[in-house]
Amino acid sequence: MNSHFDLAVLGGGVVGLSIAAQCAKRNWRVCLVERGEIGKESSWAGAGILPAGATHHVDDPIEQLRQLSDQLHEQWARWLFELTKIDNEYRRSGGLYVARSPAERATLKANCYWWDELGIGYQRLSQDRVSRLSPVLFPLWDDSQETQFYWVQRDAKLRNTRHLAALKAACEILNVKLFDHTEVIGFHTQGSEIQGLDCGATLSNQVQSRVVADRYCIATGAWTAPLLGSLGIDAGIYPVRGQMQLYRFDQAPFRFVLNEGHRYMVPREDGRVLVGSCEEEVGFVKATTQEMMRQLTQWAIGVCPAIAEAELEMQWSGLRPGSIDGFPYLGTLHPYKNAFIAAGHFRHGLHWSTATGLLMAQHMAGESASIDLEPFRIQRGNVPSQTARAVDSP
Ligand SMILES: Cc1cc2nc3c(=O)[nH]c(=O)nc-3n(C[C@H](O)[C@H](O)[C@H](O)COP(=O)(O)OP(=O)(O)OC[C@H]3O[C@@H](n4cnc5c(N)ncnc54)[C@H](O)[C@@H]3O)c2cc1C
Repeated sequence: MNSHFDLAVLGGGVVGLSIAAQCAKRNWRVCLVERGEIGKESSWAGAGILPAGATHHVDDPIEQLRQLSDQLHEQWARWLFELTKIDNEYRRSGGLYVARSPAERATLKANCYWWDELGIGYQRLSQDRVSRLSPVLFPLWDDSQETQFYWVQRDAKLRNTRHLAALKAACEILNVKLFDHTEVIGFHTQGSEIQGLDCGATLSNQVQSRVVADRYCIATGAWTAPLLGSLGIDAGIYPVRGQMQLYRFDQAPFRFVLNEGHRYMVPREDGRVLVGSCEEEVGFVKATTQEMMRQLTQWAIGVCPAIAEAELEMQWSGLRPGSIDGFPYLGTLHPYKNAFIAAGHFRHGLHWSTATGLLMAQHMAGESASIDLEPFRIQRGNVPSQTARAVDSP
């Protein structure tokens, strides 16, 4: 069966769903093609940490993306709730940053300069203040450890599984045709135009062998490079594995996001606490390892001894879409005029998905985008971004 759409989005993660929802709001006829279940890959596996954005104009493209995303998350959480009645648990919870080793202290010092430059308010906290924020944290530490604590009031978080459920429901309400269990296996092209998608085996009964649209937007996360390869385009996108644990408490032991280097804990509203993560370049192998689980548990117990008594409910891994310079790829997929890309968000895709959805809708509609997309073009020669590459999601 052939169908014709204004836009076909490839990939049903947070990026694809956000783009589909934004375009459907403009009354475009949109379909989304996902080879597995909608929203069950990296976007599901993530933590949902949303570090604060700049409070005044900034020139750095990554900081512009973060700032716009930060502003939009608040609006989207309200909009999604009104439309779908699903609370994505977006909260300005605040973020605690901890540094114990000399390297961590040096990194936090650099963060302070950066926060100053961006106008992001922060405070240095005494261990006493931290104990008052949550008595269950760091009880084993003594003063000789020279531990430093910083607090960023405007850091936020959301529960990504809820956010994805809300986005999917919003897409359905806005008449986006969702083809799940449908894999894009090839493109029909003529000159500089894509004329259709070939779709492979499907488990659902919404069988689509060919999808035809005026525009195509590739949002296939860590799996984007092989797909672009079939169009003869090279993209510096590769999988970076992160492992996670989920503990269950009767009541959350604290309400804010706790960060120490690449490790973090994120409490959910119902008492669950996420512990993550790591960066591993192991190709497309999605598995947890005993060694990483041991390291995460050991770190978590050292920070919050109550973890030792909590039930370990789940553990998993996910493949982040890494990009060679820390910048995502956003814009037209030259030389194709009606093909677009939104991929390579690495550790920040849940955060940057709101700005990505808006910017891609503007760009594909031929409007000038709210921020300049030139630095994110696919054919670029960027140097690695200081802020995008160096740190964990915060
Ligand atoms: C452990 C971990 C922790 C993280 N923590 C955070 C965090 O705290 N904050 C934050 O902002 N980000 C975080 N991230 C990063 C974030 O999750 C990703 O950047 C984001 O999910 C990328 O979204 P996406 O839609 O591009 O990719 P995905 O969610 O992976 O979606 C891509 C989709 O494309 C589909 N697909 C691929 N190929 C095809 C094909 N040929 N045909 C059809 N469909 C296809 C896939 O099945 C998949 O569903 C974390 C990630 C991990 C793994």
